[in-house]
Formats: sequence, structure tokens, C-alpha cells
Amino acid sequence: MSTPITVAYGDGIGPEIMEATLHVLREAGAAITVETIEVGERVYNMGASSGILPSAWETLRRNKVLLKAPITTPQGKGYKSLNVTMRKTLGLYANIRPTQSYHPFVKTNHPKMDLVIVRENEEDLYAGIEYHQSPDVFECVKLITRSGSERIIRYAFEYAMANGRKKVTCMSKDNIMKMADGLFHGLFDSIGKEYPKLEKDHYIIDIGAARIASKPDIFDVIVTENLYGDIISDIAAEVSGSVGLAGSSNIGEGFAMFEAIHGSAPDIAGKNMANPSGILQSAVMMLVHIGQPDVATNVHNAWLKTLEDGVHTGDIYRKEVSKEKVGTKEFAEAVVKRLGKKPSTMEAVKYAKSEAQNATAKMGEVVSAKQTHVGTDLYIYWTNPVEELARKVKALEGDGLTLLNLANKGLKAWPDADTSGMHLTDQFRCRFTVGDGKTTDGKAVAALVARAFEAKLEFTKVENLYSFDGVAGFSLGQGE
Ligand code: NAD
Repeated sequence: MSTPITVAYGDGIGPEIMEATLHVLREAGAAITVETIEVGERVYNMGASSGILPSAWETLRRNKVLLKAPITTPQGKGYKSLNVTMRKTLGLYANIRPTQSYHPFVKTNHPKMDLVIVRENEEDLYAGIEYHQSPDVFECVKLITRSGSERIIRYAFEYAMANGRKKVTCMSKDNIMKMADGLFHGLFDSIGKEYPKLEKDHYIIDIGAARIASKPDIFDVIVTENLYGDIISDIAAEVSGSVGLAGSSNIGEGFAMFEAIHGSAPDIAGKNMANPSGILQSAVMMLVHIGQPDVATNVHNAWLKTLEDGVHTGDIYRKEVSKEKVGTKEFAEAVVKRLGKKPSTMEAVKYAKSEAQNATAKMGEVVSAKQTHVGTDLYIYWTNPVEELARKVKALEGDGLTLLNLANKGLKAWPDADTSGMHLTDQFRCRFTVGDGKTTDGKAVAALVARAFEAKLEFTKVENLYSFDGVAGFSLGQGE
């Protein structure tokens, strides 16, 4: 039975590398029916700021699988990133990037590198929640959910199991972000217990990133939050020596998108010079996803054999190891010629038909907890002396809410704080709490805000303080 897939030819080198890839898939006997949509530059230029037409969504939703060539993102404001739009609209929560070295056929300092980065794709600083709060202060919210973290972590473990991997490493910065990243790390530890066959470890992201650059072969599967994942994916691809060879998948519930990690390379577009390997690797991932592991195995091994035989496009051509310098079309033809063959130096691949190969993971449940309102933080725009603000804010106390402290950029500024060495910004956090064991409510907070208004204080934000099952749900100011 043929599986319908949506194909986007993209911009720049997109059409050439996609044509080459589809040629290999056809010759390998992939049971796919291709439906094409247009996305990218031409659509942007038609005035669609998202880079995609409404009719294309219908095709995408029907087929549920997209093989996408890179697109050129127009410069300037007003254009939305198509990738971000697709990720959000289709709920593509996991970004999977396998990165491997192909030593000695592709130059690399890390011949044994073979790792997969599983990156959370929807949350974190990429949720797009930003505010300009005062002339000096800009805020970008790092939003991490328990349910979303649980899903990506479970996905990483399921992926590792389904793909014969041995170890899953979590990377976070929970020494600093004890709540958001602490949650991620904690969930990794607890969910990890359900996978006794897999080794587990955790790195603080900074040393983790450094190790990917210096000793990438110590890693197997890495799971991490969105921003960290974005950065370490590029480090991994760079040190593997094969940016042009890597594919990726974006997995959602009932939807998946596959694409190369490189861009549209306008500098070599239309010259039959581009290496189609990145999109071909993505197509291999797609074939596994749609349940055609034998075709995926055949294409992947023929491709490895092509590399091994020294048939190389210009980007990886080196006199010492290459035998033939070829163009995009000729490279695809060389892969077709080797269908049915296996590499002899590099390890051949073997994809299995397994339900778990697609490694989906359900959204974690939104848990319930006893949520108790214990105070509020009132943010106030202020450029005069701290003592004066403290006096004015102290006068706002009422309904059981008393002023605990003032903080500036997260650092305690009042009481008992020497601010002479601090670079104070123009926004202060004024923390009001109720005593131990007591609670407050929205009415008391609204009355506090009303008093601030009457006192002509410019409040820029109100953030309530809660405890959950008795545990404080807010960080203390440094020095508090
Ligand atoms: P790029 O990846 O397109 O090119 C960087 C360099 O690598 C260029 O010298 C290019 O010639 C080379 N290169 C890239 N892919 C190659 C291949 N398959 N074979 C041989 N050489 C290859 O990155 P860029 O120049 O920063 O971006 C160009 C355009 O691509 C921009 O508009 C950017 O926004 C877009 N882009 C799109 C995607 C996507 O659609 N997923 C991803 C990244 C960049």
C-alpha cells in the first residue's frame, strides 16, 4: 500500500536536492504517493507573511507526513518563520537530530561520534512571550511545563529503546534555574527509572556543550530543553564535519516533518553542486516513520557505500579520500547504482519494523496540587532612591499583606542591603507576603494594586506567589 506524503521543494538548492532524493526513493521502491505543496520565497512574495498558503495546510493535515527542502527566509520584519509556524500549528513537540561522523571518508576530528539530540520544540524561551516593561527592562519568559517536559523526556527514552541506543543524557542548568530546569532534571531522574536497561547521566549544559565539542563520542542520546537543544545541535553538526549530510525530524502527535539541517544555499543554487545527502537522510528517517524500514535500510546502506567508494560532491571532496567529484544528479545516480549493496568499512544499518520505532510519547498529565495563595510581587517602575520607594510601598500594606523586601534584577535591595555597589535598573520587585500558615486572595491583591494606583506608583507587573502542597512556588531574591 502506498503512503501519501506531502513534499515541499523549497528554495535555492531545494528543488535540486529534493528531485535527487525522490529519484533515489523511487528507484529503491519506496511505496509513497507524492503530493506537492508550495512554501517559501514565492509564497512570501505573493504577500502571505507566513510563507504558506491556506490550501497547503489542508494537504499537510490530510497526509500527516511532510518532506521539506530548505526555504529562503526573507530578510526584514513582517515575515514569520515558516518553521516556527509549522512547529506550533502542527504541535511538533520533538526535534530529533542524529549526528554522526563518516570517518575516514568525511573529514572529522571525532571519528567515533554517533549521537542523537532530542530537543523540546515548543516551550522554553521559544514560547515567544516577551515584554518591554520599563525603559530599561526587557523580559523574555522561559516557560517550562511539567506535562511538556514529561513528554519530551519520555520520547527520548522511547527513542533510545526503539533504536538500540544504550544511554540517555539529560542537559539542563538546574544549578541556576532550580525550579524550571530542576523540574526537567527531576522528571528525567524519575522517568528514567522506568527504563532500567538504559544508562542515564546528567550534565550542566555549559560543560555538556563543551564536551560535545571536545569528546562527542561519549554521548549517545541527549535530551534537553529548546534553547540548549538548538545550540548543541549546531555544535554537534559542526564538529561531526558533516553539516551538509545531516537530516532531522520534527515529531508531533499524528504529524511529522522531515528536513535537512542546512539552509537553501543560494550561493550554489541551480548549479548542480549541492549535496543532497541531508534531505536524503531525512527521507530515510521518514521511511522508517511510515513503516518502510527495509527501503530505509537499502537507501541508507547504498548511500554509505557511495561515500565509501569516494563518490563525493564538492563540499566533502578531498583529494586524499575522494575518487570522483560529482554533481547533485550524478551523486543520486551513484546511490541508485549501489542500491542492494552495503558499506564494507563503515557499519551497515538495519532498521527494524517496530511500533516503537516511531517513538511517540503522550503529553504528560496536568497534575493537580493544593495551590495556596501566599503573597504577591508587585513590579514598580522607579528611578529615585530605594529608601523612598520602600517608604511609599510600605504604606500600601493592608488586608494581611505586608512588605517583605524589594529586589532589583533579582537581588535584594531593601531592607538590610547595601545598594551602593549595585547597578540598579528602573524596575523594582516589591514582595508582599502573609505570615506563616496564612493565605491571601485575589481581592486583597486587587486592593493592593488599587492603592498603588492611588499612590501614583507605576506598577508594571503583578505576579502572585503560591505554594504547592506546602512547597514555595517562587524563588527567593539573591541575598534574601
Ligand atoms: P546554508 O546552510 O544555506 O549555507 C551555508 C553554507 O553551506 C553555504 O556556503 C552553502 O553553500 C553550504 N551548503 C549548505 N547546504 C549545502 C549542501 N547541501 N551542499 C553543499 N553545500 C551546502 O545557510 P545560510 O547561508 O545561513 O542560509 C541560506 C538561507 O537558508 C537563508 O535564507 C536561511 O534563512 C535559510 N535557512 C533555511 C533553513 C530551513 O528551511 N530549514 C535552515 C537554515 C537556513
